[in-house]
Amino acid sequence: MRSAIACIAFFLAACGTNERPRQQNSGVEAPVIAIQPLGEVPTAVLDSVRAAISREHGATALLFARRNLPPQAYINVRTPRHRADTLIAWLGSIKPDSVDFVIGITQQDISTTKYDSNGAIKEPAWKYRDFGIFGLGYVGGPSCVVSTSRLGDGKSVLFFDRLKKVVVHELGHDRKLPHCPNLSCVMRDAVERLSSMDEADPGFCGECTARLRSSQ
Ligand SMILES: [Zn+2]
Ligand SMILES: [Zn+2]
Repeated sequence: MRSAIACIAFFLAACGTNERPRQQNSGVEAPVIAIQPLGEVPTAVLDSVRAAISREHGATALLFARRNLPPQAYINVRTPRHRADTLIAWLGSIKPDSVDFVIGITQQDISTTKYDSNGAIKEPAWKYRDFGIFGLGYVGGPSCVVSTSRLGDGKSVLFFDRLKKVVVHELGHDRKLPHCPNLSCVMRDAVERLSSMDEADPGFCGECTARLRSSQ
């Protein structure tokens, strides 16, 4: 089974310099994470993403200038969508060396293919060949992507809570975290489902926090 959710980004530092910003936290170098808006993304969404990255990942968040979604990611099997794995690969290809990770944020619907334990497309194949998701990130990064399309009304507290959890979860994968057996942890399996996502805390459990620290 693929290790879930993903992201990748493009580099035009809207607020940037070529200097690599760093914040020190207990002597540990904080990661630098770039936010890449893909298409039109509301400022409130980007502010929320930035706050979650700073608070839960203890990272320096940079906001890149908006870019259009790459046309090669577009697909129309069941409904018009953009392939998350293609977006992640593209984001990875444009990631500057000056940042550690890049997360793409889009309002467009994104999808992936779900596989079973034998590597075949999960049944029913018509459903899982192009399956709509909230986000995708691979363990070890360096990129992931999150869509607001399935997270709710775009304005409620619940919507923003979900957005922040998916962002923190996908970047957790990029930072080498697998899924966590702690059902309260933001890295719990299937946080991609709304019901389980709403049950999870916004941040990492003690064990995942320790793993993040030890991997830096
Ligand atoms: Zn996951
Ligand atoms: Zn955990």
